[in-house]
Amino acid sequence: MRRKIVAGNWKMNGSKDLAKTLVGSVRSELASLDNGVEVVIIPPAIYVQDVAAHADGELGLGVQNVSEWHSGAYTGEISAEMAKDQGCQFALVGHSERRQLFGETDQAVADKVALLLDNGLDAIVCVGETLEQRENGRAEEVVATQVRQGLGKVSGEQWSQIVVAYEPVWAIGTGKTATAEDAQAMHASIRDVLADMGAPAEKVTMLYGGSVKADNAAALFAQPDIDGGLIGGASLIANDFISICRAVP
Ligand code: PEP
Repeated sequence: MRRKIVAGNWKMNGSKDLAKTLVGSVRSELASLDNGVEVVIIPPAIYVQDVAAHADGELGLGVQNVSEWHSGAYTGEISAEMAKDQGCQFALVGHSERRQLFGETDQAVADKVALLLDNGLDAIVCVGETLEQRENGRAEEVVATQVRQGLGKVSGEQWSQIVVAYEPVWAIGTGKTATAEDAQAMHASIRDVLADMGAPAEKVTMLYGGSVKADNAAALFAQPDIDGGLIGGASLIANDFISICRAVP
């Protein structure tokens, strides 16, 4: 049995007020969820404590990024150790916006993952191809390279702290979603890569992300290799996010 997770990535959105209202609503609905899904909120780091105060230990908490360095003179960065210290259990790594806008490389992803694992956090490692790469028939090769390099330092028991999020870049924030069949095909391909790397591939939780909404979540989550979702825009609207959490079988 793999963990089932729905994680809401607020990106650079939100406020103290959203932390109160949205987290309160999600929490009150959680009791009636009987599908075993772990619900995780990933706000901007400055709101982690606000979310924590309203989550009251009932929701998972994460940060959207951590530094690839341990500590020191890196103004503006936050470390894996600090995320842990603030009560986070999860961190996103390698989100396509970090890769595209901030030049995050697979090497940096690997370094960040290693620091997260050392600090006992779960790493949600994002991979995905651009539209051009997909149209050129290179989607699987590109994603396989991201998986091999980004997870290249993981071994043994550490695999239980890894969650892979497949997020086709062309589907993020665009309203275009991969078909359930295409998403499943890529998830199966990633699982093959993990097995080839010596990981306990059948045990690694994999999320789909990219314009997941209340009306398409169920079809995606019904796929055998899709264990939940990484949700951007729809995670900011309580009713939509709750519906997506309910859509996990
Ligand atoms: C994301 O930010 O990881 C994401 C999937 O965004 P959206 O759901 O808005 O496409």
